[in-house]
Amino acid sequence: MTPTAEHRPTYATTDLDNLAYNFHSVREFLGPQNKVLAVVKANAYGHGAVGCSRRLESEGVDWLGVALPEEGIELREAGIRVPILVLGSFWPGQVDAILDHALTPVILTFEQASALNNAARRRDLTADCHLKIDTGMGRIGVRYDAVAELASKLSMLTNIRIDGVMTHFAAADDLEQRSFTKLQMQRFDQSVEILRSNGFAPTFVDLANSPAAIAYPESRRGMARIGGILYGLGGDVLPAGIPAPTLKPVLSLRSAIAHLKNVPKGETLGYGRTFMTVRDSVIATVPIGYADGYPRAVSNKGKVIIKGGFAPVVGRVSMDWTIVDVTDIPAGIGDEVTLIGREGSLSIAAEDIAQWAGTISYEITCGVSQRVERRT
Ligand SMILES: *Cc1c(COP(=O)(O)O)cnc(C)c1O
Repeated sequence: MTPTAEHRPTYATTDLDNLAYNFHSVREFLGPQNKVLAVVKANAYGHGAVGCSRRLESEGVDWLGVALPEEGIELREAGIRVPILVLGSFWPGQVDAILDHALTPVILTFEQASALNNAARRRDLTADCHLKIDTGMGRIGVRYDAVAELASKLSMLTNIRIDGVMTHFAAADDLEQRSFTKLQMQRFDQSVEILRSNGFAPTFVDLANSPAAIAYPESRRGMARIGGILYGLGGDVLPAGIPAPTLKPVLSLRSAIAHLKNVPKGETLGYGRTFMTVRDSVIATVPIGYADGYPRAVSNKGKVIIKGGFAPVVGRVSMDWTIVDVTDIPAGIGDEVTLIGREGSLSIAAEDIAQWAGTISYEITCGVSQRVERRT
């Protein structure tokens, strides 16, 4: 452990070599006929969007995907040159920023298509965009049964080009819902057919997210939009027991013991007094809390690695501090605490924390907050 002089010793590390490993592993698994759009929204699922995007670009990624124009602008300002798809489209005031930064927006409504068309016409250019079809997620995009009507209206907009058509699966991670996933594919195919018969000729036709790309080869169609598995987060989004690329975890989260105390049997610890010592105990306090993204939901459930042993989280995780029981570990002040990551033969994955907290690993990595020092 090398705490920096200026910071408390709580930090997150993004292993860019493992990110690159996962990228090549996934790309090889999908085959050369499929392009990879790496999804780096939400600060690359908490792994640092600029660092991850630079590395993926140098490894040969075809596209990057962000949720918001703001996220795409950050990448362009950092010098990223590969095509960037803005999955969540844009708000009315953002259409010029989209064109200024050469971002490719996803279009969800005719009004957006029209706004983009007007802005492109003012600049005397044709703007590329991708059209999102809602085939069963029920969230954003044009409903599959409204595509025909939209297609004829879109044909009148001469300053945009629908260069991609996409949809998003609701339950590709759950093979028991296979028939619904197949229904989404059917609805999508019909929608693309309608667009083609109206004269549209999209270069990209993409459906697959991480679970679909791995579990449903027929969903790949030349490009897959891959997020979670690039960050090694396959554990709770890939169906068990299917062929899958090998993945390595990318994020680790570490801190150090700040305080140690002997607490006699029968005393309570933390807010709400939810834990009582059942023996004379040695209790360590770690400077990380739910304000850092270590979830309060792991109170009395989680564990951390210290000196080659697991130490259970005791009592409530609070905003700035977490208490762990080190009675069985020869721990000292300043000893390294691994909250996510590997230490010797022991490891804790983001998926483990997610399970203790009753959520998915994506929420855990996305949740590592601004307050946590970042290292690569
Ligand atoms: C976030 C997102 C993805 C990536 O999903 P993963 O499960 O992380 O692979 C793909 N497509 C769209 C539209 C998304 O919003």
